[in-house]
Amino acid sequence: MSREGAQGTSTITRLRLGHTTLNAHLHRLRLFTDLFCLWCRTTPEAMEHFLLKCPRFHSQHTALRSWLSALAITTLDLPTLLAASGVHTS
Ligand SMILES: [Zn+2]
Repeated sequence: MSREGAQGTSTITRLRLGHTTLNAHLHRLRLFTDLFCLWCRTTPEAMEHFLLKCPRFHSQHTALRSWLSALAITTLDLPTLLAASGVHTS
């Protein structure tokens, strides 16, 4: 596997497992005391919130929805996106 391919696989594995530098994961590891998104303050900063829901990134989410709808992907949640990229989440 190429270096780029290995990095991509590693990134997808971290997304699948929820092992990221986002606050909810760091809070679980007791590395960071603030569970919540730095912008919303009321929602745990987990990957699905960061990628798909945080109002801070509304314009990026709109662009993502547009690109995904061109691929006939209309359900926007993390399991659907991982499955569309060929990753099985079970
Ligand atoms: Zn947020």
